[in-house]
Amino acid sequence: MQAVVFTAPETARIEQVPDPICRPDEVIVQVARTGICGTDVHIYHNEYMSEFPLIPGHEFGGTIVEVGKDVTDFKVGDRVAPDPNLYCGRCYFCRNEQANHCLNWQGVGITRPGSFAEYVAVPARACYRLPDAIDDAQAAFVEPLACVVHALKRLRVWPGDEVLIFGAGPMGLILVQALRHSGASQVVVVEKQSDRLALAQQMGATAVVPAGPEQTEALRELAPYGFALVVDATGVPAVIEQAFTYLKPRGQYLQFGVAPNHATIKLKPYDVFRYDWTIIGSFALCYTFQPAIAWLANKLIDVTPLISHTVPLREFAHVFELFQAGKTLKVQLQPGA
Ligand SMILES: [Zn+2]
Ligand SMILES: [Zn+2]
Repeated sequence: MQAVVFTAPETARIEQVPDPICRPDEVIVQVARTGICGTDVHIYHNEYMSEFPLIPGHEFGGTIVEVGKDVTDFKVGDRVAPDPNLYCGRCYFCRNEQANHCLNWQGVGITRPGSFAEYVAVPARACYRLPDAIDDAQAAFVEPLACVVHALKRLRVWPGDEVLIFGAGPMGLILVQALRHSGASQVVVVEKQSDRLALAQQMGATAVVPAGPEQTEALRELAPYGFALVVDATGVPAVIEQAFTYLKPRGQYLQFGVAPNHATIKLKPYDVFRYDWTIIGSFALCYTFQPAIAWLANKLIDVTPLISHTVPLREFAHVFELFQAGKTLKVQLQPGA
């Protein structure tokens, strides 16, 4: 089959590789659509937990074309979105409702072959059946949506809270929509690209502010005492460092964006103490595929406007370059095309 292979840090190739083998408890999924994610960029630059060579890709949906001999819950022809996070179910964290910290965690497209390929092998227990209301393009959004569900479960939005989101990439734009349903009084977005700001407004942001020297004044006007919830959806250390200056006393800060794994920021512990701040991390997802599927099936979140490119696998190098330069929104690969 054809696949994108990260052969070494900062080296990506389209290669012919052997089709995946279906183990007894696994299924083979023919990938219909798969999204490129910021995490894939970190993997490419060797700023993540992956090793090389690797077929990346963890956001995908497709159709089961083969089932292992022990699989009873799925059959050939089922449309599914697999949870790329593979939990052992036996360790301390799995048995403490914190499976995303599984001591034996494996990630499809992170530590084992992923979906930037025509076929991918996944354990049947990681698969979620898709209703007809969710098309192939939407199916590849179940995983990122599940990450947003996990994040929202990690914090608590109080009625009337002012929300500030840095970054209007695909995840920021999903967060805007999700937080608009949370009881917040304002959902404000800061972003440097004007087309993304326009989309944020279209997706329900109550105000949008261009990133730059004038942002502070605009934000002070919108929320004179600061924001009750500040979300980073950029992963950029410099953005994260200044994000705290907009946090209200008793505020919650959510680190959603993935920063390079060695990056650091300056933060005064005194401020955390003095202002009763809560700092929340949110890693991947934790059994949150069902609510994500429910969001999509019931049209609570509109993901279609977030897709800027849909291309065959062979165009990966080109779109990956555009993606890294911030010149795309969600890019979807169509391995069969
Ligand atoms: Zn992702
Ligand atoms: Zn475990």
